[in-house]
Amino acid sequence: MGTPLGLSGEQVEELKELFLADILGLFPEVKIQFDKFSVDPTNKEALEAIFDFFHRLAGTSRNVGLPLLGYVAVMAERVANELNLGRSTDTKTAALIFSDAMEAVTVELQRYAEAKALKAEETGDSSVEIAITDDMKQSIAPRGGVVVPARLGEGRELSKILVIDDDEFSAGMIDNCLRAAGFLSRYCCQPERALHVIESELPDLIVMDIIMPKIDGLELCRRIRSHPSLQDTPIIFVTRRGDVEQRVQGLEAGANDYISKPFEPQELIARVRSHLERLSNLREMAIRDGLTRCFNHRFFKLRIEQEVERGKRYNHQLCVAMVDIDNFKQVNDGHGHLAGDMVLSHMANVVVASVRSTDIVARYGGEEFAILMVHAGAPESKVVCNRLRERIAAYRFSYAGESDADKIIPITVSVGVAELAPITDTPSTLLRRADAALYAAKANGKNRVMTAPMPSGEKASEVKPA
Ligand code: GH3
Ligand code: MG
Ligand code: MG
Repeated sequence: MGTPLGLSGEQVEELKELFLADILGLFPEVKIQFDKFSVDPTNKEALEAIFDFFHRLAGTSRNVGLPLLGYVAVMAERVANELNLGRSTDTKTAALIFSDAMEAVTVELQRYAEAKALKAEETGDSSVEIAITDDMKQSIAPRGGVVVPARLGEGRELSKILVIDDDEFSAGMIDNCLRAAGFLSRYCCQPERALHVIESELPDLIVMDIIMPKIDGLELCRRIRSHPSLQDTPIIFVTRRGDVEQRVQGLEAGANDYISKPFEPQELIARVRSHLERLSNLREMAIRDGLTRCFNHRFFKLRIEQEVERGKRYNHQLCVAMVDIDNFKQVNDGHGHLAGDMVLSHMANVVVASVRSTDIVARYGGEEFAILMVHAGAPESKVVCNRLRERIAAYRFSYAGESDADKIIPITVSVGVAELAPITDTPSTLLRRADAALYAAKANGKNRVMTAPMPSGEKASEVKPA
């Protein structure tokens, strides 16, 4: 088959390689500009950079055997041009089109990187690096100007939705609606592979057709529900309008909701949002302590595992502080258990307000709180903890007792701080060292902060965040 420039296949391959290497070099910068545009669509400089990038792509892609990328780039280029000239003001649609086009580029670059890696493996050349990572793909979202659904869990901003439908057209349509609403949606048209896709992607919600060949939706739904980590994943069935029997069967198989075909996009989105919100609340409940609304012990254990691993791998500083109320038994004995509960819940607020928003505050035990301070060394953490200690000592924990007058309950805390010893520490030794420092603070008269010494032969990390 001829090419637009009448080149041989080999020549085209060679050009394509050069072209993709070029695009790969330009991509990080245009990604920065794209992010800027997403945040501020009036940023002229960002828009021009986006225009230049797609203009370049549009001009060459088709000549190097990448026609589809070429068409996508032409579209993005036109949109950028319209905005640039003030002929259009629809920045929201523009951001979506840019985002899709960036994704198309990423897919092509990924393919290129994979092919190069394969070649490197065959020829034993280790100088070829894979430049496109999943992170990079992920970073293209969120799409500018689109309403992003409520936060789900920690550190996750966009909800992942999987659409399962053997009919590609129908799947694509649902997927499009979801994307337009700002969800990270993808679809699977081979229901027999769906379970595998679900297990590897762990979507936050599943929309699926009920009648499919090979494996029907009801059976798939039962299998999903029998999977331990997919018990709460909301499942919405797509059924034929008016088929009550089907709906009942779907709900019995474990689905949460259904939508009838043909559906109104707004209805689909509203149902998806409401299920995700419920899920988000459920997930929050599972990681929070009921009295103080701090994270619970289980969540803290999970996070300390992650942070210790990260700290050791990247040589980041990490500290744990154990905060224990002094003579708390006397509070309960003197003012009653309810007063004690009130102190605990106010105390949690003071602790949370005294640390960085990225630190993890948990209720570790009865009247003991644990703080995970990320990117902080022992001296810095000690300052923070001392400030916290002073605040609590000065805080007026007032409690309306049985007598009319409010009672002020004086409270002090003791704190033990330990910094991650990068060579020898595990999560449990780090916690034990913090506990020992807390014990020393109690033994030395309470209402004080003590730091655990570094184990011999260890030096604290020095890496601070950029
Ligand atoms: P120290 O200064 O050595 O820490 O003395 P302490 O009295 O604070 O410590 P101790 O461990 O002897 O007592 C802790 C008390 O905390 C006992 C327990 O009844 C109380 N406590 C634990 N959980 C709760 C709770 O959820 N609510 C209330 N009100 N009290 C609690
Ligand atoms: Mg105590
Ligand atoms: Mg205690």
